[in-house]
Amino acid sequence: MRIVLVGPPGAGKGTQAAYLAKNLSIPHISTGDLFRANISQGTELGKQAKAYMDAGDLVPDEVTIGMAEDRLNQSDAAGGFLLDGFPRNVGQAQALDAYLASHGIALDGVLDLEVPEDEVVKRIAGRRVCRNDSAHVFHVEYNQPQAAGVCDDCGGELYQRPDDAEDKVRNRLDVYHRETEPIIDYYKQQGLVQTIPALGKVAEVTQRAMDALR
Ligand code: ADP
Ligand code: ADP
Ligand code: ADP
Repeated sequence: MRIVLVGPPGAGKGTQAAYLAKNLSIPHISTGDLFRANISQGTELGKQAKAYMDAGDLVPDEVTIGMAEDRLNQSDAAGGFLLDGFPRNVGQAQALDAYLASHGIALDGVLDLEVPEDEVVKRIAGRRVCRNDSAHVFHVEYNQPQAAGVCDDCGGELYQRPDDAEDKVRNRLDVYHRETEPIIDYYKQQGLVQTIPALGKVAEVTQRAMDALR
């Protein structure tokens, strides 16, 4: 299956993507995780992305689209994928459609994770991710690691992403409403969107998403 996951920062995209990708045996492709891996490895791409990410702005399309397409090429896009955090504006959505069309494939669905803004703010404030791999995600209240500050998945150190600091969150939500939300209408016109209420336990949300994909 070829799926796109949309939702505001903190909605639970990464958390859900990990379970959905496992259940569906498809790769989880997160552009945010790819950028953070590039930053920690000190690559040229990471250097280009860092200032935008720290400010909570989108990394320019010229950088982002190439990176996403490279990743899709690596994993045989026709075999399926779950995109998390890409596309994030209409230009990226159009680029993805063009990429898929050139490979003779199309999306099967777009899952829109719906969470009230006050809950999103709480989820972001308490989020802690692993220094080794930002796909290892915890929460100081809702999803505590067994030992405080230590990643259950790999033993790495947990930290707060710089863009999760309180003073960055307002801008990220503004960017979401202004630039990312329009892709929901774009995909509605293609009949692809399933809205998933994303309050409640992680496993309940996963079940709703799996039901929607049936
Ligand atoms: P996103 O990728 O959309 O930014 P994450 O998956 O990183 O969101 O989740 C944001 C934070 O909320 C994390 O700290 C995560 O542990 C927590 N979280 C995810 N899903 C839930 C849920 N259903 N209930 C409570 N907290 C959640
Ligand atoms: P969240 O989990 O909170 O939604 P992500 O980890 O997906 O955040 O993204 C973190 C940051 O990485 C974004 O604020 C943005 O700067 C950059 N980024 C990630 N994906 C994209 C994208 N598709 N286009 C542009 N910038 C992106
Ligand atoms: P339990 O200990 O019974 O397993 P959890 O630790 O899973 O409960 O956390 C309670 C659940 O309630 C979370 O999945 C989260 O979605 C929800 N939750 C916790 N705190 C809040 C909150 N402040 N607002 C909304 N939902 C919350």
